[in-house]
Amino acid sequence: MRFKVLMSALCFAAAATLAAAVPARAEWVNRVTDGIMGTRITVELWSEERAKAETAIDAVLDEMRHIDESMSTYKPTSEVSLVNAKAADGPMHISKELFDLLVKAKEYSVITAGAFDITYASVGYMYNFPKHIRPDEAQIAKALPAVDYRHVILDVKNQTVQFSQKGVRIDLGGIAKGYSVDCGIDVLKAPGFTRAYVSAGGDSRIIGDRFGKPWMVGIRDPRKGEGEVIASVPLVDAAISTSGDYERFFDEGGVRYHHIIDPHTGHSASKVRSATVIGPYATRTDGLSKTAFVLGPEKAMEIYNRIDDIDAIIVKLDGTVIYSKGMQRGKATPPPPPPK
Ligand code: ADP
Ligand code: MG
Repeated sequence: MRFKVLMSALCFAAAATLAAAVPARAEWVNRVTDGIMGTRITVELWSEERAKAETAIDAVLDEMRHIDESMSTYKPTSEVSLVNAKAADGPMHISKELFDLLVKAKEYSVITAGAFDITYASVGYMYNFPKHIRPDEAQIAKALPAVDYRHVILDVKNQTVQFSQKGVRIDLGGIAKGYSVDCGIDVLKAPGFTRAYVSAGGDSRIIGDRFGKPWMVGIRDPRKGEGEVIASVPLVDAAISTSGDYERFFDEGGVRYHHIIDPHTGHSASKVRSATVIGPYATRTDGLSKTAFVLGPEKAMEIYNRIDDIDAIIVKLDGTVIYSKGMQRGKATPPPPPPK
């Protein structure tokens, strides 16, 4: 593996408080929770004791609430909101956790030729998808020069961030869910769980298998209902992220405006219907799953094929599905035909 996500000590804080328990009746324990990071969190794990499993799931959710508190731009007191308010004035000392994630974000910007760019928010903050609000051309043109990941200056020695100009804003919405999934997995690994699934919206990670069988993760058909899958991917010890143009969008005048923004134009990036990335860590698969929307299926696939710990499945605008080289060896299982 060429890149390794270095989890901050904070990821492990919750895990350390979990007590060891005496084995009783082993079972799969599962919980679905709505409302953290504005999305649905699912945790499933194999546990020898139900109480121990429930405590571990509580700890995963606490960890995710902490990440939401510190990284959401919807919360004016979050650390990211403070950075947006102050970092153009000079170097600002930030937590190790946020600093490390900003380093990762920059890394993904470089890998994706600027398609992934947390400063998209310099324009992106003017969109409100539920309210069908979008900036006009003049507003976009005015704000666009502030979109460039190189405006975010990181000083490792002093652990500071600074924006090189006014008007720069960052938003970690394209990476924070994946990061929270990785932290959730760390929380479960620390007390010794070896078979588990954690997901936050479109970002999931799995540890272990289902007793000799892989976990089957469905990729939704972008133009059908939630239960309709276009393919199922067998996974063991892996992360998977899907970005779709059906997640947060509105249609107006025959155009779909949705929540992935092309950093080069400030408009919705609509070159594919969905993109799924599979890799070792959810931070990484989340950071890379938006690329195809901005660069288009061919260029994105070229990038995915160059990265050796990544595989990808892209649903093009015409509905055809393309697979990265690694997946062509063992293609994802297509869904069973619909009942006659
Ligand atoms: P989800 O939020 O459901 O996990 P995605 O992983 O596809 O969906 O991420 C979409 C989010 O990424 C947007 O809501 C926005 O916060 C952020 N985003 C949008 N455009 C970009 C971009 N070009 N680079 C980085 N992040 C982006
Ligand atoms: Mg995501």
